[in-house]
Amino acid sequence: MLKPQDHIFSNLYGEEPWNIKSAKLRGDWNNTKELISKGRDWLIEEIMASGLRGRGGAGFSTGTKWSFMPRDTMKPHYLLVNADESEPGTCKDRDLLRNEPHKLLEGIAYASCAIGAHVAYIYIRGEYFHEAQIVQAAIDEAYNAGLFGKKSEKTIGWNLDVYLHRGAGAYICGEESALMESLEGKKGFPRLKPPFPAQSGIYNCPTTINNVESLAVVATILRRGAAWFSGLGRPNNTGTKIFCISGHVNKPCNVEEEMGIPLRELIDKYAGGVRGGWSNLKAVIPGGSSVPLLPKSICDDVLMDFDSLKAVQSGLGTAAVIVMDKSTDVIKAIARLSKFYMHESCGQCSPCREGTGWMWRMMERLVKGKAEITDIDLLQEVSKQIEGHTICAFGDAAAWPVQGLIRHFRHEIEERIIKASINTNELPEVLNVY
Ligand code: SF4
Repeated sequence: MLKPQDHIFSNLYGEEPWNIKSAKLRGDWNNTKELISKGRDWLIEEIMASGLRGRGGAGFSTGTKWSFMPRDTMKPHYLLVNADESEPGTCKDRDLLRNEPHKLLEGIAYASCAIGAHVAYIYIRGEYFHEAQIVQAAIDEAYNAGLFGKKSEKTIGWNLDVYLHRGAGAYICGEESALMESLEGKKGFPRLKPPFPAQSGIYNCPTTINNVESLAVVATILRRGAAWFSGLGRPNNTGTKIFCISGHVNKPCNVEEEMGIPLRELIDKYAGGVRGGWSNLKAVIPGGSSVPLLPKSICDDVLMDFDSLKAVQSGLGTAAVIVMDKSTDVIKAIARLSKFYMHESCGQCSPCREGTGWMWRMMERLVKGKAEITDIDLLQEVSKQIEGHTICAFGDAAAWPVQGLIRHFRHEIEERIIKASINTNELPEVLNVY
């Protein structure tokens, strides 16, 4: 369990004001110039040594990502902050944006120095209207205090301008290259990679894109030291994480805890347990809607970190824990996600554009049991044709929930098909041979 003194986000629940005065009392912006004066290499090495892995879903080393930025170019460098938090079940960045905006802004200062950027853009999802107002007010406060703008070279030791940009509500704009296209004023279509953003990002210039939470923890890591952060959690899965717990629990909440906490402990301790008790649990989606669900038998003792969840064929993703008790029609729940992905596909790649609609229509039939047993294998096959065959990770995100359902609840799908066929006196195809 995370000790009180090891919490990074002491104002996660907004019990104190978000403004710069309160933020400074909580330790933000305290010795920024001194830390920046240690130089670009020190900043990168310290974040690498801390073991911080990106909190946006992919889990790539943040320090390593910073180190990819070239040093032998005359082109300007840019930092983009991905605040387009749209993954169903996920609401961690939202609390940071409205309650701890200065932790994010200070993290932006260090990251900008580390990658050689003098301009940073925060791309925030359009629906976060209230949060955008707070972040803009926090940016204004930082300008008034001389932390950004013309005086920043003197006050924090790095010349930096920060701009806020509001998106228009497309889920795909959370994909880094689609975000850049959108920021450039174009349709949010993901780009073919390579080139990767560090070589050619926004305006064809070297760019680093980081998630809100990844940047908001940077200042505390630099202040308390990489060894402190890497001492929390488990090897290769270090530090703290904000978990968003929703669904069939008694007290849905966001909570900061150590990486690697057992899923059961997380739900029981902070979310008041599963509705009707742990034995009433049916399944959990552990990392936002894109990752495969896990049945209760795995949830009993799985740990909440990147490697533990990968080992059980799921993922930590955004750490959005969606709990489903035994009253859940799990086929219907996944069908709803399939509809979401069909709706949000940008349509550039045929496997994604056609496949997501195909999967949704098949899922709708499975919900009613109006299918053949052989259709389950066909659905699995179609999901495999999408996975890994598209230009962005959206295809995988659409395929994985369906694959997780078939992997763990195939018996339930089969039962429904058989039951529906008995009701209509038509045996499903595979049973006709008997
Ligand atoms: Fe667009 Fe889907 Fe292709 Fe991504 S995978 S680029 S969302 S069509």
